[in-house]
Amino acid sequence: MKKRIDFPKIKGRVCFNEPLSRHTTFRIGGPCAVWIEPQNEKELKKILKFAGSKAKKIFIIGAGSNILFRDKAFNGMMIHLGSKNFKKIHFTGTKAIIGAGAMLNRVIMRACKKGLSGVEGLVGIPGTMGGAIFMNSGYNRVVANSLDEIKVMRRTNGNIRRLKSKDIKFGYRHSGLNSYIILEATLRLKKNNKKIVAEEGERLLYAKKRTQPLSERSAGCVFKNPDNRIPAALYIEMSQLKGKKIGDAKVSEKHANFIINVKSAKANDVLRLINFIRKRVKSRFNINLIPEIKIV
Ligand SMILES: Cc1cc2nc3c(=O)[nH]c(=O)nc-3n(C[C@H](O)[C@H](O)[C@H](O)COP(=O)(O)OP(=O)(O)OC[C@H]3O[C@@H](n4cnc5c(N)ncnc54)[C@H](O)[C@@H]3O)c2cc1C
Repeated sequence: MKKRIDFPKIKGRVCFNEPLSRHTTFRIGGPCAVWIEPQNEKELKKILKFAGSKAKKIFIIGAGSNILFRDKAFNGMMIHLGSKNFKKIHFTGTKAIIGAGAMLNRVIMRACKKGLSGVEGLVGIPGTMGGAIFMNSGYNRVVANSLDEIKVMRRTNGNIRRLKSKDIKFGYRHSGLNSYIILEATLRLKKNNKKIVAEEGERLLYAKKRTQPLSERSAGCVFKNPDNRIPAALYIEMSQLKGKKIGDAKVSEKHANFIINVKSAKANDVLRLINFIRKRVKSRFNINLIPEIKIV
């Protein structure tokens, strides 16, 4: 049996050798040495201090909807902001204060009930607020568009600070926030008619459901769209790769930029399929597809 990490006492949940396949939308991934859900910022800081002193790797996981964890064990500490202190959703007027662990669908629903628009572009994205900010996610509007500021904790020393949205280097599926753990977001929303907000959300969800395999096990779009007007999905489709299967990993027939775990795919199947797609698209179109999903 593997030796367990001598771990500091906290009230939050701690599990050893936790299978990461339980925590990703792909349902893929080997175990991690320690899974930790700190109860509050103080406990999070304690964990970071411990990790620093023992030179342990840490990784922050939200809803695991943009990650492919490898089959081999992650020999470090997986931190998840899943306790209720990190999931708060609070509105004052048009301002929303959202914990990084809050699921996006709950945020959208609550904003919709209040007749506040600005987060509908996140509809159908099965992630958390923290993950969405880190990835600058969105469907037609990205999260950065409605963000006022965030509260973050520095990974190296646990110090807390606030960052204004304008000072964050947001880009396409990029935030440059690698040195921080996102704790909380303040959004600036717009007062609108409840019916209009709901209809816009439904319209976007309908469009997404029609074009993407939302009910399958996946991690969303695998590749970033290249720097031109042709989306990655079209290059993959034009390479006749829709339906291409390696092991239980398959290129979606509905949206070619999605890889689906048909039954019990291994990370290795997905990685082999990713390489296959990249080689085929490179040889046919001289385009280098870059993964959008995080491979850990
Ligand atoms: C069916 C499906 C549809 C999708 N559609 C879209 C879409 O339309 N648009 C889109 O942009 N994406 C889409 N995605 C991808 C994914 O859902 C988003 O990127 C989502 O915002 C990721 O959030 P998460 O909480 O799951 O992050 P995770 O996948 O858990 O993590 C993603 C990255 O964020 C980091 N991270 C997470 N939380 C924090 C935090 N608190 N502090 C610091 N770093 C953190 C992680 O370390 C990791 O590097 C889709 C995925 C699926 C499965």
